[in-house]
Amino acid sequence: MKLNYKLLALPIIVLLGLVYISFMFSSEIEKLKNQIDNIYFGNFIPVHKLHIIKSEYKNLINKPTELLKSKNIILENWNYYNSQYKTIQEREVVNKINKQVTNSFKKRNIQFYDYMTKQIDLLIQYEVSSASVQRKDFLEKYDSVKNYLFYNQIFIIIFIGIFVVITIISTIKNHNKLEYLVNKYKSDSITDGLTGLYNRKYFDSILDETTVVSYENNWESAFVMIDIDFFKQYNDTYGHDAGDIALKTVANVLDTLFKDEYDYVFRLGGEEFGILIFNINRVTLEKRLKILQNAIAAQKIKHSASKTNFLTLSMGVVLIDKKIYHMSRTDIYKLADKKLYQSKEYGRDQYTL
Ligand code: GH3
Ligand code: MG
Ligand code: MG
Repeated sequence: MKLNYKLLALPIIVLLGLVYISFMFSSEIEKLKNQIDNIYFGNFIPVHKLHIIKSEYKNLINKPTELLKSKNIILENWNYYNSQYKTIQEREVVNKINKQVTNSFKKRNIQFYDYMTKQIDLLIQYEVSSASVQRKDFLEKYDSVKNYLFYNQIFIIIFIGIFVVITIISTIKNHNKLEYLVNKYKSDSITDGLTGLYNRKYFDSILDETTVVSYENNWESAFVMIDIDFFKQYNDTYGHDAGDIALKTVANVLDTLFKDEYDYVFRLGGEEFGILIFNINRVTLEKRLKILQNAIAAQKIKHSASKTNFLTLSMGVVLIDKKIYHMSRTDIYKLADKKLYQSKEYGRDQYTL
């Protein structure tokens, strides 16, 4: 069963997209900050103009004869400064100084030039301090907004991350559970509950194919029908539970001895078992049946009602010739049953082939 990986990829793509958007957003906000910082440095242009005006007034104190030259420079710079945007309160002050600047050239008075340098100085101080207060204010707000966005991004990423992990884990869990159930159902439906061998249903489906498969592979194949001797008496003597244990012991011996690639061991029902062996010859088959009889004897399962005093098996064996193209399930079964009956007739604890 295949896991749907496309489904898992979706939340991961969303998460990566979110991380990318956050990154882009942060870098854009950083650019904005730099732009605003440039505007702050723009505030120093008027300060620069004011410095020029101040130095020209100082110049006039020392060299009053250069009035025309200094006046031009002062007016040019002052007009620039005066034309900048001002708040209402600032405008009042600037208008007042504007008049004083105009008057300063009419008066031609050294004390007044000195007074003007002081007035311009006041403006310089005001401009510098207001620019730095605004910048400080902006940077503080910028930092708090940036942190706020950053923590929100982290929160959203963690939240979606947890969601993704939970989705992946539960999908994988459900997938494994389903796979386990399917496999369990598969094996349960062909397994005998008591012994763990293949069940009758599975036996029927395989027996149907036996001759065809053997013919096509040019194999001889065998079907061994096994029945425990005097098992009714075994139950009567030792109890049904002991009977179950004996069945499991026999099943275990069969399972251990018939483990080759093409060996199949079944519980056909009650105290009857079946073995299908593909690709085998008569000599090997008989060898393996004798090994089985010895192995059961070696278990020494006490059975007082039996002739040998121990639990034994009777077997009916059919060896299917390579040349037989088709023999029906019932024909094979009937023949094996007939041979088993003969084994019972001849005294049990033996096989008839
Ligand atoms: P025979 O040698 O002729 O085969 O005699 P038998 O007693 O083995 O044959 P019979 O068919 O008369 O008895 C089979 C007994 O197997 C009857 C039943 O109580 C027992 N049996 C069938 N299935 C189970 C099982 O699952 N557990 C136990 N403990 N006994 C079972
Ligand atoms: Mg029986
Ligand atoms: Mg029996």
